[in-house]
Amino acid sequence: MNKSLLEKDKEFIWHPFTAQTLTPPPLPVTSAKGSLLTLEDGREIIDAIASWWVNIHGHGNEELAEVIKQQVLDLDHIIFAGFAHQPSVALAEKLQPLLPGNLHRFFFSDNGSTATEVALKMAIQYFWNKGDTKRKKVIALEGAYHGDTFGALSMAARTPFSAPFDDYLFDVLYLPFPTEENEKEVYELMEEYCASEEVCAFIFEPLVQGASGMRMYSAKTLDHLIGIAQSFGTLCIADEVMTGFYRTGKLFATNYLTDHAPDILCCSKALTAGILPMGLTICTQEIYSAYLVDDMMKTFFHGHSFTGNPITCALALKSLEMLIGDERQEQIKTLCNSQKMMAEKLTALPYFSNVRVTGSILALDYINEAETSYFNSIRNELYNWALSNNILLRPLGNTLYILTNYTIKTEELEKVYQLVSQLGTLGLKKCLELQTEEE
Ligand SMILES: *Cc1c(COP(=O)(O)O)cnc(C)c1O
Repeated sequence: MNKSLLEKDKEFIWHPFTAQTLTPPPLPVTSAKGSLLTLEDGREIIDAIASWWVNIHGHGNEELAEVIKQQVLDLDHIIFAGFAHQPSVALAEKLQPLLPGNLHRFFFSDNGSTATEVALKMAIQYFWNKGDTKRKKVIALEGAYHGDTFGALSMAARTPFSAPFDDYLFDVLYLPFPTEENEKEVYELMEEYCASEEVCAFIFEPLVQGASGMRMYSAKTLDHLIGIAQSFGTLCIADEVMTGFYRTGKLFATNYLTDHAPDILCCSKALTAGILPMGLTICTQEIYSAYLVDDMMKTFFHGHSFTGNPITCALALKSLEMLIGDERQEQIKTLCNSQKMMAEKLTALPYFSNVRVTGSILALDYINEAETSYFNSIRNELYNWALSNNILLRPLGNTLYILTNYTIKTEELEKVYQLVSQLGTLGLKKCLELQTEEE
């Protein structure tokens, strides 16, 4: 007898971030087009989280598919040590003038976690190569998330997710998450940390901390923090893995800074339109120059089998061209405006607090008795309720957010807004009751 997809999944597959025995079976999805996911039984679901923050042009884009196909036929993959190719330089050439500050040198890897790992190693070895043996510490923001590999985990907040590994992670210096109230304290602490001249790097998610609940802070504050760090020679690493590619309304969140710019910038996720994995770590010529020495032992000994893959480079280039074109720019502007207008309406609703928006990202906290946390059981209830209404929302604890691709249709976005508005007006209990009555 033939087993179903789900039976085979249960037999063989280990899903990420999934409590294996506590979570309902996954949904069998067969295709995706635009903002719609189609399930095995024909049900259509609106993807309101851009497939974990990666998708920007919608699913199943023909132009991007064509580029991928052509690149496979022309040059699918080649070892990136000892070989150069057109897709990598074309991408770097196109992206470089659009970057903040003096970022210039492109290092390729595989995903967001490797992008931040590379940034960390690059910064550490920068000082090592220069013979500065004092700078060994890293500053991070409380609540930070930089990926799931060991260096990335070390640089982030300690959470129940990292608990089994905490003993193996290196210590970092934490800065409180900056708010209007604690701004001064945070600046002072930054100064204290950096004045020791023992800090090699300050890493941050600019303007929006994603995984810890879409927590937002101002460009002005970040600019100031970077200014302090750099005045003491600390390298500043912008983890733009989530915020990059117009999520915050500009190409990069650090494009909002007016006085300072990061020394290293990490991207992934939307870099390749959410279709194939790739990480990119871009640094200044100054950092790169520490590696321009005739000493074999000062080589940056880091690389992955698929570093600089031509297919993902060609895809990223095409995606970037589409992104900065008039049509997409218009759509991004429209989406940002809709989110802003919707945020104003949602603020008035009794079940929502802390409604916030940065560019195309709208987030809010659902008010219920338990405190705000990823493990709040309300998370699962909200997730399941939204899905039962054919909308994919994936709350972080009781924080709900809407983060879609830029091509979402007005009527699709309207459906998402209607559902979220209903929740804010009536509360989950009442929404569920209404649903049962309808059935
Ligand atoms: C998702 C994310 C990462 C990790 O990227 P992966 O591709 O999932 O490894 C790192 N930093 C930030 C800010 C992220 O949102």
